[in-house]
Amino acid sequence: MMRLKKDDKVMVIGGKDKGKSGKVKRVLYAKDRVVVEKLNLVKRHTKPGMDQAQGGIIEKEASIHRSNVMLYCDKCEKAVRSGVRKMGDNSNARYCKQCEELFDK
Ligand SMILES: [Zn+2]
Repeated sequence: MMRLKKDDKVMVIGGKDKGKSGKVKRVLYAKDRVVVEKLNLVKRHTKPGMDQAQGGIIEKEASIHRSNVMLYCDKCEKAVRSGVRKMGDNSNARYCKQCEELFDK
């Protein structure tokens, strides 16, 4: 199972933003979804209220299902499959299966 964390660099592999990459802003563990900065934007209509006098349309990131993103490897310059490796101090580190570069340092 792929593990994603906040600040991971990911690439979208499905849906309307396919091929775009960005940084994970939030991980919704219970829903198996992630929110990626500036990706999967949806328009929300806002009503005039306390903080906005006019109301209008704002763009907000909607969450993306985990199966639609992959970790992006800076070294390979593409989305890659990742594995998990036990480190010397018994912690788990994710690595790129292509070039063996560690994602967790
Ligand atoms: Zn790599």
